[in-house]
Amino acid sequence: MGFHTTVTGVARIGADRELKRAVEGYWAGRLGREQLHEVAAQLRQTGRQQLLAAGLDSVPVNTFSYYDQMLDMAATVGALPPRVAGIADPLDRYFAAARGTAEVTPLEMTKWFDTNYHYLVPELGPDTVFALDAGTVLADLAEARAEGVPARPVLIGPITFLALSKAVDGGAAPLTRLDELLPVYEQLLAQLAAAGAEWVQLDEPILVTGTDDLPERTERVYTRLAAAAQRPRLLVTTYFGDAGACLPALARAGVEGVGVDLVAGSADSVRAAGLTDQLVVAGVVDGRNVWRTDLDAALATLTDLREHVGELAVSTSCSTLHVPYSLAPETELDDTLRGWLAFAAEKFDEVVALSGALADGRETRAGAFDAARAALATRADDPRVHDADLRRRLSALTGADRTRSAAAERQALSRRHLGLPSLPTTTIGSFPQTADIRAARARLRAGTIDEAQYRAQMEAEIAAVIDLQERIGLDVLVHGEPERNDMVQYFAEQLTGFFATAAGWVQSYGSRCVRPPILFGDVRRPTPMTVDWAVYAQSLTDKPVKGMLTGPVTILAWSFVRDDQPLAQTADQVALAIRDETLDLQHAGIGIIQVDEPALRELLPLRAADRAAYLEWAVAAFRLATAGVETTTQIHTHLCYSEFGDVIGAIADLDADVTSIEAARSHMEVLDDLNAIGFAAEVGPGVYDIHSPRVPAADEMTALLREALAAVPADRLWVNPDCGLKTRTTEQVTAALTAMVDAAHAVRER
Ligand code: GLN
Ligand code: ZN
Repeated sequence: MGFHTTVTGVARIGADRELKRAVEGYWAGRLGREQLHEVAAQLRQTGRQQLLAAGLDSVPVNTFSYYDQMLDMAATVGALPPRVAGIADPLDRYFAAARGTAEVTPLEMTKWFDTNYHYLVPELGPDTVFALDAGTVLADLAEARAEGVPARPVLIGPITFLALSKAVDGGAAPLTRLDELLPVYEQLLAQLAAAGAEWVQLDEPILVTGTDDLPERTERVYTRLAAAAQRPRLLVTTYFGDAGACLPALARAGVEGVGVDLVAGSADSVRAAGLTDQLVVAGVVDGRNVWRTDLDAALATLTDLREHVGELAVSTSCSTLHVPYSLAPETELDDTLRGWLAFAAEKFDEVVALSGALADGRETRAGAFDAARAALATRADDPRVHDADLRRRLSALTGADRTRSAAAERQALSRRHLGLPSLPTTTIGSFPQTADIRAARARLRAGTIDEAQYRAQMEAEIAAVIDLQERIGLDVLVHGEPERNDMVQYFAEQLTGFFATAAGWVQSYGSRCVRPPILFGDVRRPTPMTVDWAVYAQSLTDKPVKGMLTGPVTILAWSFVRDDQPLAQTADQVALAIRDETLDLQHAGIGIIQVDEPALRELLPLRAADRAAYLEWAVAAFRLATAGVETTTQIHTHLCYSEFGDVIGAIADLDADVTSIEAARSHMEVLDDLNAIGFAAEVGPGVYDIHSPRVPAADEMTALLREALAAVPADRLWVNPDCGLKTRTTEQVTAALTAMVDAAHAVRER
């Protein structure tokens, strides 16, 4: 009844980002709808045929999306927000929900579990009436079946769909609406069965979050769906962790298949789950990191597991949405390093090799197994992976290396030392990344300008930004970060142990892709990374210039990180490199250094029970990065999200002198949260939202500052925007910062 070889899902943006260009072309009116559909159909077909050619006997379909799979599911169950209902054309309605129009605001976007993918949050209001629109799902299936592909439609499961939605306009809590939603799934299952689907995959990653009520809910929902009169076989797929007690619940519910993540989860819970009648789809190949699979270890896991379940199929741990398409374009990669890696195409081959070995014996796939073994053997003792000097330096660290003098003493000293007014004004670091700046970087890469010409242009940019800040009257200046393509990649390119891919794009949201660097080895900083730029900026002004660094946790969060040692250890290596940089900046006369950690909350584990351990090493790494400087050097940090929840205590533990934080959209609420935990350091709640092109009036910011002063005394309050200004225009920035400085003056005078 089952199948043997599959993957949980695949990327859709295109190996060459074809979909990105096509949808952006469509949005800009450069590309017609027919052409857009054609590009999409071509991508789907290429994807299916690739999987078939690799040797899969069950191919996931409905994994394509013009923007996002949660938005697709909302459209399928009739849950697009009412504000787009007036848009008659379905594709334009869909894009309006995703991106907004001049008239309507888009859905909110947030992170897909603990990945760097962002989904759109469906809004469920009192007027939401679930109703099936199976059009695209059925069309995808038909397209695949017409090619003779053994297609398995993939849907977001009802529990995950509701758990990730939000109630609006006084609507009921989403999870209380399961009974309204399930009939729509039942209809969809019936239509898929009628259309010839043998299996359907319902993705339920929410089941790994370990919330108490999930097993009971899972059993109830899937007992009901399994009882549907006409339906395909049900494969309920969990990923991003261990589904624990939800697995026996699925066994009892009577679904035919269960997908498990054996990279982030454990085979023990699968063995113990009583899945003796089910097809278990074992995700032994990591779908979200870039490392080559240890085939021997994976085969051992599979061989053992086969004895404890009904049937066993081999798969990836999750969709390969989260990794680049293929190693083929990475021509700069040396063979040793290449041998350690597997992107999506290489992972498909690993799945097929494992499945073949499981069926016919390892010797029948000796080529694949020998190659994996040989490659991985070189990883264990490569000098780039284990740097003895660095390891000695790390093991000599003590608690003192992560501890500064008392915060109150630092505050008194640095205020005097820096001669700042009350309510000092500053920015978060970046100024507009203009087309000129990006063009210069492209020319440097292409070799049409040399290093010296590039440097001269960046210095001119810095000089202009310093001049602008002086004219506006800001108190603490920045150099503007023109030389940085990206706040992580810029550092990754200068540290050892990182590899920047040529074409390793992964979808971040919609048409946006990122190219995360690969952290494969021990991390050292051969030479200073930012000092020249900061010193140049400081040479142009008498005002203090703030040095600007990215923190260790954020560097990890936005990279593919080695899996052969605990994250905490890797974080400390990066922290030590940043620490060296802070000392060099200080030595060069930079008295204020900001270490950004916007991703501190992103790496927070999905399960509450794992969070304390994470926060402990994350905070320890930040402190290692920042605690080396003198008492008089002021350390700033920046965090940009407005809901703090579980990380609020950690923010205090970072022990920064000044923390700038997103607050404009939430009316300074974060200050109350900080007060509630006794936060006593200086704080710069953002007084305007940089995400919008709108220029706020000074009055609005004055009002926000007054609200802030009700929570924080003037001698601890800074005035700054919510985040960096790189996406704005110089005109917007000039107007907004001028108004911000006016607001600070207005409040100071009282
Ligand atoms: N210093 C960075 C900037 O201003 C911070 C960016 C961020 O918080 N994401 O761009
Ligand atoms: Zn920010």
